[in-house]
Amino acid sequence: MQNATYIDDLLSLLREQESFVVTSHARPDGDAIGSALGLMHLLDGMGKRVTVAFADPIPVIYRSLPGVERIQAALPTAASSMLAPDVAVLLECDGFERTGFGRIAFDHMGAGLTINIDHHLSGKTFASFNWIDPEACAVGAMIYDLAVASGAKITADMATCLYTAVLTDTGSFTYPSTVAATFALAEHLVESGADANKIAQAVYFSNPPSKIRLLGAALGNMEIQGTVAWSWITQEEMSRADAAVEDCEGIVNYLIGMAGVEAAVFLRELPSRTEFRLSLRSKGEVDVAKVAERFGGGGHRSASGCTLDGSLDEAVTRIVAELQPDRVRSVQRLAQ
Ligand code: 5GP
Repeated sequence: MQNATYIDDLLSLLREQESFVVTSHARPDGDAIGSALGLMHLLDGMGKRVTVAFADPIPVIYRSLPGVERIQAALPTAASSMLAPDVAVLLECDGFERTGFGRIAFDHMGAGLTINIDHHLSGKTFASFNWIDPEACAVGAMIYDLAVASGAKITADMATCLYTAVLTDTGSFTYPSTVAATFALAEHLVESGADANKIAQAVYFSNPPSKIRLLGAALGNMEIQGTVAWSWITQEEMSRADAAVEDCEGIVNYLIGMAGVEAAVFLRELPSRTEFRLSLRSKGEVDVAKVAERFGGGGHRSASGCTLDGSLDEAVTRIVAELQPDRVRSVQRLAQ
């Protein structure tokens, strides 16, 4: 099916329904938050009742987005609201679990319909309505297309949220998903009231000192083997830097930013101290979505994530072996 058909069907569906819960993935990033708030503004304009909920806290750098104060920390339940929402919309998720709320919370909420809007190659058709476009540079860009097709005015608030989504999920317009249409979209959003400088100030120049301290520790742990670079942060290092989980965002980009490095991984020790959360990046040769999927995670060809258990040494050994070009080539041969 063409994107235009998905958009037409989705708009009919949105127009028919009255109440919506919008959510996205755990440990939300700029696209998760920007696209959820962008959709909220669009639905507001259509006269719908909208609740936005995230399981994890909103990182400081996104807390000035218009409408952020409406984000709730829990899904509505039959006990908390008189009526179950008509629709639950999940953005950037490959299943209910990825929201961090768990499947049961969705069952308790009792929405009649579920909508899945995603741009991951590893996206899954788990909802009643699924629109997955791996070519889209961000889910924010899909919401933008939806808004334009609906004939709605792109308000300054909506534009600010969607611009933030696109800016962050294209790595500041640097990833391969950045094409001419991305700049046309950005141009329209800025014309509609998104303040590119103010958004960049919030996202890139408002980091807490803990984040920079943590970056120092992570870069001190850096190792390189052939074309693979890795680094990690332990719980102890997190405490020493007085850091929050969100302070780990972006560290992996320094590793993949090195000349000669084709794949990079950043490992964050989880509070259980028996598991690590991994952020994987590639310059294109290594498909890190496939690597992450082998460990139960997912993402894009050049940016993905997953969780590994075991000690730091075990986790590093397993993931670095998967990221070596020889290993990647032999897996690709087997798959053919
Ligand atoms: P990050 O390293 O920035 O957390 O994630 C990079 C990309 O991989 C993002 O698009 C993110 O949504 C995706 N991703 C990270 N972890 C997971 C995971 O556990 N499952 C899936 N399906 N995608 C993930």
